[in-house]
Amino acid sequence: MSEKIIEFKNVTFVYEAEEEDSVEKIPAVKDVSLTINKGEFVAVLGHNGSGKSTLAKLCNAIYEPTEGTVEVKGIVADTEEKADEIRRIVGMVFQNPDNQIVATIVEDDVAFGPENLGIEPAEIRRRVDDALKSVNMYDFRHREPHKLSGGQKQRVAIAGVIAMQTECIVLDEPTAMLDPMGRDEVMQTVKRLNEEMGITVVLITHFMDEAVQADRVVVMDDGKIVMQGKPREVFSQVEKLRACGLDVPQSTELCHVLGLKEGILDVDECVSEISKVLGGAV
Ligand code: ADP
Ligand code: MG
Repeated sequence: MSEKIIEFKNVTFVYEAEEEDSVEKIPAVKDVSLTINKGEFVAVLGHNGSGKSTLAKLCNAIYEPTEGTVEVKGIVADTEEKADEIRRIVGMVFQNPDNQIVATIVEDDVAFGPENLGIEPAEIRRRVDDALKSVNMYDFRHREPHKLSGGQKQRVAIAGVIAMQTECIVLDEPTAMLDPMGRDEVMQTVKRLNEEMGITVVLITHFMDEAVQADRVVVMDDGKIVMQGKPREVFSQVEKLRACGLDVPQSTELCHVLGLKEGILDVDECVSEISKVLGGAV
């Protein structure tokens, strides 16, 4: 049986926004139950405002549920100590690479997390070097982070999480502000962490082509989980995805409108389906 790493049990989260003479309650996550297993790569999809970032912040005790419980390896963040324990298991990478960089030299930035954990200098040195190598940024260790590209900055941010040796990494739209090359670099890095280092990945994204690469896709709409399954199962429900305000991958769409196979995930599969119809002429 697979080992659970994060478990949401009937979790509701309500923001309280101060108005002039009242408090507006905004429910952002509504009665969500979700299990993330150790070693999994889960993509969370949803249009703007569907509750993805709130869900991400509930994963590592930045927020506490208004109702229900979030357990990380059985730990509930009911004290500051336990919240810290959870943050040593689940690391976060945010959308804007510039907001996550704290030091003026790449390797110092990566060392920041382990330093705060009180780890001894020789071990920090080892972790920083290994982490930078694993995101292919070792050669940039003496550079100034603000002079790097967006994709490089995000890889430094990911190295910072790896250096803390967290078992799970939650990335909240890490490629949203990047150009196609930067997106590609970050996605390849994320996949390698999962496949080669066994790190559990929760990737929040609104890019379908990224979600397709996950083991499981979870779709959120209006604070709730409305669909989940293997990418092919989820992407074969074109109309339902559209109803959640999501666009399906172009290849999926083309095969869907042509009345060919549902759940096509990429260009190669699409070409192969069209080729079958044309009797192998493509
Ligand atoms: P997503 O990441 O999918 O865009 P969010 O989790 O950021 O969704 O937001 C979910 C809902 O919560 C939205 O209606 C949003 O306006 C609201 N919300 C998010 N952050 C705050 C906040 N700090 N205060 C009040 N409401 C918020
Ligand atoms: Mg968000």
